[in-house]
Amino acid sequence: MMGIVDKTSELPTGASMPVLGLGTWDLRGTKCERTVKEAIQLGYRHIDTAEMYGNEAEIGKAVQSVEREHLFITSKVSSANFAKYDVIRACNQSLSRLGIDHLDLYLLHWPNDTIPLDQTMEGMQRLLADGRVRSIGVSNFDVRRLQEAMDASEAPICNDQVEYHPLRPRDEIPRFCRDHGIALTAYCPLARGKVMGNETLRRIGRQHGKSPAQVRLLWLLKKGAVVIPKASSTEHLVANTELDGWDLTPEDMESIDTMAVRTKLVDVNYT
Ligand code: NAP
Repeated sequence: MMGIVDKTSELPTGASMPVLGLGTWDLRGTKCERTVKEAIQLGYRHIDTAEMYGNEAEIGKAVQSVEREHLFITSKVSSANFAKYDVIRACNQSLSRLGIDHLDLYLLHWPNDTIPLDQTMEGMQRLLADGRVRSIGVSNFDVRRLQEAMDASEAPICNDQVEYHPLRPRDEIPRFCRDHGIALTAYCPLARGKVMGNETLRRIGRQHGKSPAQVRLLWLLKKGAVVIPKASSTEHLVANTELDGWDLTPEDMESIDTMAVRTKLVDVNYT
């Protein structure tokens, strides 16, 4: 039976991006390797990492047991490496640490106004042409910067990864992404575990026999986002796959949309 781990979103390149991925920020060493292996055993097929997470080598060990074509691996180049040849070098180093020959998605991690985007995009274009990267995108880009990236790139910008959860709802970026066929990935979809006691989420969860975390994830999926919750316990890894066979009502969606609590977790001046 198809589960949430099998559902995908089609990127402008024609690639299929699983709508549930495993976030890996702050997972390191053997704990990272063990968690990623367990997630794969549970059916996760999409792993999100970045050169700055310092865990690509551990993820590389964990993914060797699965045929490469069955996995979707995203990494991100740090903004200090946005010069054309630095992008290429950084990607080669990520591939070498991961022990794979291509990334499914390669993202510019944060905007960097000191390096012209067209130079960065020339590097990304080279990686695409060489087959080292299948699709490209950005992260922490607002709509203005997203448009600039699209203007600077020959290849389609397939993804924007931004902080997005019920405590930090979005409007402009999801609309822009929808209108331009760009997949939107919600990072910190669980608001890093904060305010799980929120009464609106708890009440809705109780009505469906689900946790506030599961309510958050389904709310994002129903908004059309890809979600990449980080989990390190078996209980959480499993819970985050239980997003099928139940649904949020239009009233539930509206209650969450209009929740009074608002917070921003990651201090990005750009978004
Ligand atoms: P998150 O996924 O919102 O929250 C992770 C926290 O939630 C952990 O403490 C985890 O605990 C807990 N958790 C997981 N599943 C749960 C469940 N079912 N019930 C209750 N608690 C649960 O935060 P995040 O790791 O910051 O964000 C997710 C991913 O987005 C990152 O790992 C990273 O891959 C990406 N990210 C990208 C950027 C960017 O700039 N592009 C920035 C931040 C994050 P346990 O670990 O104990 O299971």
